[in-house]
Parts: sequence; C-alpha cells; structure tokens
Amino acid sequence: MHRHQTVLLFGPPGSGKGTQGRILGDIPGYYHCACGDVFRRLDPNTELGQTFLSYSSRGELVPDEVTVKIWHAHIKKVEAVGAYKSHSDLLILDGIPRNVEQAKLLDEELEVLRLINLACPDEEAMIERLRRRALKENRADDAKEDVIRHRWDVYRAETQHVLDHYPAEMISEVNAQNSPAEVLRDVLDIVIPIQTAHYRRLAAEGQTA
Ligand code: AMP
Repeated sequence: MHRHQTVLLFGPPGSGKGTQGRILGDIPGYYHCACGDVFRRLDPNTELGQTFLSYSSRGELVPDEVTVKIWHAHIKKVEAVGAYKSHSDLLILDGIPRNVEQAKLLDEELEVLRLINLACPDEEAMIERLRRRALKENRADDAKEDVIRHRWDVYRAETQHVLDHYPAEMISEVNAQNSPAEVLRDVLDIVIPIQTAHYRRLAAEGQTA
C-alpha cells in the first residue's frame, strides 16, 4: 500500500506550524494540510461542524476516530482533484497526529520521513502570540485566556507524547521563538534534503515528480 511521504510539523499552540506550513505549501512539490483548517472549513450548520465547535471552543481535542475520518476524507478529496499529488508531493502535516492514539491510527498511511519540533521554551511569549492572532484572525478558540491556557494543558498532557512515538533520529528541533524568517530558514535546511532524496528515489523507480 502506498504511504504518504510525510513531514510532520509539530509544536504547541502558537508555535508557528501554520505559518511555516502555509509557506512550504506554496512551493511546488509540497502539500500542506493543517488539520485545524480542515475542521474550521466544516459547515457549522452540520452535525460534524457542531461537534468540532463544541470541542474547539473549550480548547479540547475532537475525538480521535472522528478526527482521523475527517482528515482521511479531506486527503482523498484533494488527491482526487489533483491538488495533492500523493506519488510525488511531500505531505506537510500540521496539527495531526495530536496524541499517541492518532499517531497509531495513522501509522499505516503515513511514512513519516521527519518530525520537525517547533520548540517554545517561553510559554508566556507563545500565549501572547495566540492572543494577537485571535484578534487578527477572529479565532474564537484563542480569544479567551482560559481556553488558550487549556490548549497548552492539552498539549502537555496529550500531544507532547507523540514525540515518544517516533524514533529519536526522526526528530529535528527548531527554535520557534526566532523570527518567522529564521524559523523558515531552519525548516528549509531540514526539508530540502528530504525532498531531494525523495526525488532521487522516484527517479530510481523510473517515475517523475
Ligand atoms: P489548531 O488550529 O490546530 O490549533 O486546531 C484548532 C482546534 O481544532 C483544536 O483545539 C481542536 O479542537 C481541533 N483539532 C485540530 N486538529 C485536531 C486533531 N488532530 N485532533 C483533535 N482535534 C483537533
């Protein structure tokens, strides 16, 4: 079975996964998928849309089975319309897997080539970033101080353990508190060799990117 050639963008809320992912996604050969964006695009008048809002407004994770199902349907859709070329693009995943159970559910489908950990030693600085973003992007889940703090609690309690699911040599750490351009440089230093190796593998198999 074909597994998605994947780079995971990992880090706590506010670490810049979305910013970095969106930039990479604009470069040919990379496809960026942010799980939170997939959820936010659900119609709020549907049952699934309501389920998402009931969890996200409290800073809680949507249950794993529903999350993986929605993610899967989204990937199939973008593959079908040709936006994501799964045989040649690197899949840049952001916001999923969010706990060990999701990581296990996705093991069969993802070939994780690297996990980039956007590390944030200063939690308060990241929380301030989220507050500013909430004002700019009108994001309900980050508008309230207690919800932001709860998102960090969930990160510590559940998401952080995803790091133990993957072998240490697969993990690269980047300091997320540098400027976005510096973080981008560090991220590119990691992903460019991965993309080059991926293209070499495709060429060796007689396929073109
Ligand atoms: P994000 O934009 O990644 O911070 O996600 C916003 C909200 O969407 C989260 O607080 C969760 O409620 C939900 N969400 C996003 N990704 C996941 C996931 N992989 N598992 C469960 N819930 C998620």
